[in-house]
Formats: sequence, structure tokens, C-alpha cells
Amino acid sequence: MDQVNYNNTTIQNKQPSTGKKIGAVVAGLAIKGAAKQGVDLVSQGVLLPNMQKIGKSLSEEEYAQLKDAIKNLTTKANLAKSGVDIITINSENAKQIEEMVKDTLSKKMKFIPKETFSISANIITDMIKDGRNALFENGANKIFIGDSKELAASVFHEAGHAMNYNLNKFTKLLQNCRNLKLLALPIALIALIHTDKTNENGEQSKLNKAGDFVKKHAAGLTLLSFLPTVAEEGLASLRGAKLAKQMLDPNLVKKINKTNLLGFASYVLMAVAASAGIHLAVKVADKFRAPKENNKTQA
Ligand SMILES: [Zn+2]
Repeated sequence: MDQVNYNNTTIQNKQPSTGKKIGAVVAGLAIKGAAKQGVDLVSQGVLLPNMQKIGKSLSEEEYAQLKDAIKNLTTKANLAKSGVDIITINSENAKQIEEMVKDTLSKKMKFIPKETFSISANIITDMIKDGRNALFENGANKIFIGDSKELAASVFHEAGHAMNYNLNKFTKLLQNCRNLKLLALPIALIALIHTDKTNENGEQSKLNKAGDFVKKHAAGLTLLSFLPTVAEEGLASLRGAKLAKQMLDPNLVKKINKTNLLGFASYVLMAVAASAGIHLAVKVADKFRAPKENNKTQA
């Protein structure tokens, strides 16, 4: 019969093995990835269909009113003088627009070969054409919408983005700072890889201190990196709502604002999930790496 000797409990592996270190990062990234998957599911499976549902519920009269407003939108929004166009993507012009999107993307990232953007340009153009997205592209200074009811109501929100970019230096800066959310990945990696390396005298290197800071504040830093995006999204909706109120019947304005609120929710959700995801991921990684109590068993 096996006998467990509880008095012989020893702490082993103060420094985790390489396998454990890798496992901890992989486990952390898996948690973070799951959080992202969850958000995508909610955004694509719940929020977007509800936005499209509002679009489809527009009466022919309302849709005609919306299309009429689109014709005058850039003038009304003071955007025409900045050269902003609203382009409706349909099956006839989709290929041509795809090329334009590809050009714009490759101009933004000159160091990457142009053909690399073929797939992204195709996906973006198709999504807009099929009423699954609407977009203001600041490189081309154009608003792209689909030729159907689904997300037509989003045109006012996109005009809000165009106003943010063209009419105010601060909101333009805010829009340019949206890329800060790309920092979420290095923040996550640092937070997951970093382990405290304080020596016996309690001294830390500068790099260790920095790593500690990022790890300790990973959730807050991640949330911060999403803040310009969330703020700019909110401002675009507010500006869009103001415009819609000037141009449309109150009932239609309500539908537009409801559409924009669902769109905004997806960004808030993205920010909160990224932040909560890294918080949880760090906990899991630390648990994975933690030295286990080794209960020696005697035969
Ligand atoms: Zn937006």
C-alpha cells in the first residue's frame, strides 16, 4: 500500500523549466484569444445582425429619404470642400473599388508589397458591398457604403468619422491614435513572458522594473490603448446624430441612432474584453509557472 509522507513536502523548481515557461505563455495567449473570439462572436453574431435588422426594417419611403440625404450629406456636413466623397459599392464597381482600397492600404504601408493587400482589399470591399460593413477611409478620404438597406443607416456615423478627420485637428489626432490599440499585443506578450527577477538583496534591474510595471498594469494599459478608438467612435456617432437630426424625420433619426449605438457597443466590448482577457491570461500564466508542492510518496 502506498503511503504518503506529508512531512516530506518540498518546494521544487523555484525557476520554472523552459517547457513550463512556454506553456505559461501559450496558456495565457489561448485565454486572450478566447476572449477575442468571444467578442467576435457577439459582434458578428448578435450586434451586426441587429444593426442589419434595423436597416432591413426601413420602409421604402425611409430608404428613399436616406438615399436623398446621402446625396447632400458631404455638403451639409461641410465635407465637400475637403474632397470627401461617398461611394456606394455595388457588383458593377466592386472590382474597381477593390483596386482603390488596395492602393490606399499599400500607400499607408509602403514597406509591404502591394499585392499583399489583395486579400484584405477583397474582403473589405465584399463586406461593404454585402451590407456587412461601412467605412470611412482616411487615406482616400472617402466613405464607402453598400448599395442595400442593411447598413445604409451607418452612413451618418461614417460621415462623423470624416468630420473628425477633416474638420478638427484634435479629433484628427484622435483618429490617428486609433493605432495605439496595436500596443495591446506587445503589452500582452510582455505581461505573459515577464517573471520577477528580483535578486536576494531585493534589487531589480531597470528592465525588470519596466516588465513588472507592464505586467501589473496590463489590463489598465490595454484599456488605455483602446481609449482613442472608443472615444473617436463615440464622437463620430454624436456628430452623425447631429447631422441626421438636421436632415431626416425623427423616426428615421431614432433608427440611425440605435444602429450607431449597437456599433459603439461592439467597440466598448472589444476594449473591455481585451483588458479583462489579459488580466485573466496573466493569472493563468502565473498559475501555470508557479512552483508546485511536491508530495514525495514512499512505496
Ligand atoms: Zn466607426
